[in-house]
Amino acid sequence: MARIELNNLAHQYAPGGDYALQPMQHVWEDGGAYALLGPSGCGKTTLLNIISGLVQPSEGRVMFGDRDVTTLAPEQRNIGQVFQFPVIYDTMSVFDNLAFPLRNRKHGEDYVERRVKHIAGMLGLEEVLKRRANNLTADAKQKISLGRGLVREDVAAVLFDEPLTVIDPHLKWQLRRKLREVHEQLNLTLVYVTHDQTEALTFADKVVVMLAGQVLQVGTPQELFERPAHTFVGYFIGSPGMNFFDCQVDGHHAVVDGEHIPVDPAMAEAARSAGGKLQLGIRPGLIRPAAADETALTVKVDKVEDLGDYELVTGHLGQHQVHVRLEESEKIGSEGLRVVFPTENALLYADDKLVG
Ligand code: ATP
Repeated sequence: MARIELNNLAHQYAPGGDYALQPMQHVWEDGGAYALLGPSGCGKTTLLNIISGLVQPSEGRVMFGDRDVTTLAPEQRNIGQVFQFPVIYDTMSVFDNLAFPLRNRKHGEDYVERRVKHIAGMLGLEEVLKRRANNLTADAKQKISLGRGLVREDVAAVLFDEPLTVIDPHLKWQLRRKLREVHEQLNLTLVYVTHDQTEALTFADKVVVMLAGQVLQVGTPQELFERPAHTFVGYFIGSPGMNFFDCQVDGHHAVVDGEHIPVDPAMAEAARSAGGKLQLGIRPGLIRPAAADETALTVKVDKVEDLGDYELVTGHLGQHQVHVRLEESEKIGSEGLRVVFPTENALLYADDKLVG
C-alpha cells in the first residue's frame, strides 16, 4: 500500500491545447478510499489513467510513497485495476480467474487458496468458484473483476473506473455497501472514479470533486455536505442540491431581493472583503419552518412533492427559486411557507468560492 502524491500535476493532451487537468497538488493517504466525482469531461479518467500509468502527464510528478512512478508503465507500478466492463478469462474457472494475479507473482498454492477463498467470501462468489466464468451473469463477471483487482495484498493501490456501470440497478446498492466493507477489512488505498454522487458518498472516506479539469474540493461526505467549498459542489452534491441566492452584504445580514437574512458576522466581514459576485447558499434540509411569533421569510409555494421520508417544496423567494425539505406540509399557510435560515447553516460565497 502507498500514499499517492500528485506534485504540480497537470495534463494537456496536445502541446499548447486545453488543459484536461489544471495544475494540482494533492496527497492521498495510505489506506484511504478516495472517489473522483464530477460530470462527464471533467478529467476523472485522465487523472486515473495518469495514476495507473496509461497516460503520461505533460507536467508534474506522481509519487507512490517515496517511489517516483511518473514514467513507469502500468505493469511496473504495482497496482490493481477494475474497469467499467469485466476483464476476465472466460474459459477459466472463477477460482483460476481470482488466482491469476497471485500465481503471476509466484505465490505458493496454499496462500493462493486462502486468499482466493477470502476474497470470494467477501464478494459472495464462494458458491461459483468451480464454475467456468463464461457461464455466469454480467453481475457475477464484474464481481470476478472486482475480486481480481482486490486479491493482491502487496499492491500500492487499487484503481476503479466506474466499476458498477454494468451492474443491475437493484444490485448496485448491495455492491456499493460490499465495497465499503471490503475496504474496511483490507485497508488498501483505493481510488474510485464515478459520476454518481451516491456511489461516491457510500464508497469513499474522501471525495475529490472535479469540474473542468480542476479539483474543487477534497473532503469527507459530511464536509462536502455541510461546507461545500465551491457553489458547484453545493449544487452537485445533495438531492436536490444547495439553494443559492444572489445577495449583497449589509452589516451582519445578507440581503436577498430586499430581505435581510442574518448571517455569521465573521463570514459577512469576509464576504465584504472578498467582493465579487456574492451568493448566499443553504441546503434544502437545513431551512426550517418558522414558529408563529418568529421573524420569517415567506416562500411562495409552486409545488409540493411527497418523497416518502419527507416532502419537497419548490417555491420562490423573491426572484429566486428555492427548495425546502419539510417533515410536514401542513406548515404551509395561505400566504406560503414561513421559514427561517438558521445562521449556522447559511453560507456566503464570493465568485463561487466559500468565504471565511
Ligand atoms: P467521462 O466521465 O465522460 O469519462 P471524464 O471526467 O473522465 O469524463 P476525461 O475523459 O478525463 O473526463 O476528459 C477530460 C478532457 O480531456 C475532456 O475535455 C476530453 O475531451 C479530453 N480528452 C480525454 N481523452 C482525450 C484524448 N485521448 N485526446 C484528447 N483529449 C482527450
